[in-house]
Amino acid sequence: LMSARGLEKTFGEGEASAKVLHGIDLDLAPGELAALIGPSGSGKSTLLTILGTLLKPSAGTHHMLGVDLTGASEAERTRFRNRNLGFVFQFHHLLPDLTALENVMMPAAADAGRETAAMRERAAELLDAVGLADRRDYRPSAMSGGQRQRVAVARALMNRPALVLADEPTGNLDRQSADQVMALIAKINEATGCCFLISTHDEHISARCRRKIELLDGSLVGQGQSTISSASSGAGA
Ligand code: ATP
Ligand code: MG
Repeated sequence: LMSARGLEKTFGEGEASAKVLHGIDLDLAPGELAALIGPSGSGKSTLLTILGTLLKPSAGTHHMLGVDLTGASEAERTRFRNRNLGFVFQFHHLLPDLTALENVMMPAAADAGRETAAMRERAAELLDAVGLADRRDYRPSAMSGGQRQRVAVARALMNRPALVLADEPTGNLDRQSADQVMALIAKINEATGCCFLISTHDEHISARCRRKIELLDGSLVGQGQSTISSASSGAGA
């Protein structure tokens, strides 16, 4: 599904520069449920941001679904991101003036430049799937943290992405809400085969992932065994 080779990232220039990723090689296969773990400052968010095409690496290559993303233009990267990737962040980043349903619909509406009845229908189904059918007309301010995060998960799935990148999706939630969001992600992974890469400090969360990828000071020290056999053959697949 996705293949990264030799990814490096340096922030800043000259004396003040800091290299935070030191040659990351990583393959993800379709359907994987993987945790990205490691201490604070080890580079998890930076790596997710690069894999999400939101940031360019300083060196290395990154392919997904056969597309060379490091060689692509910004417009191509944006288009690819909208079509194939979903994001969940620690803070839900829902738009405060939109209802739950409108927030879920956003990725599709933004990509198409308009809303359609089919989009509303899909967004309603997704809210149903995350257990929030009765909250579709609520704004984020009228929902709990766990509910907002479940709306964010639904939104990430709107465009049927092949890969969802989640940066500490439960980092801001209490134990029960965190477990509920993780159970939801595991269920969606199982049901749809959507691949999830989830950064987390929470061992309850990483324990529910079939693969653990560990970063230490900008290098991978362990990537678990991919549980899906095509991972090893998968450059650019
Ligand atoms: P946490 O678990 O606390 O979220 P993390 O593993 O996600 O940490 P990153 O946010 O990727 O870590 O940061 C890795 C390193 O890169 C840190 O030392 C950080 O200060 C540095 N860094 C991140 N973004 C920038 C930036 N835009 N400019 C300069 N340095 C940055
Ligand atoms: Mg982080």
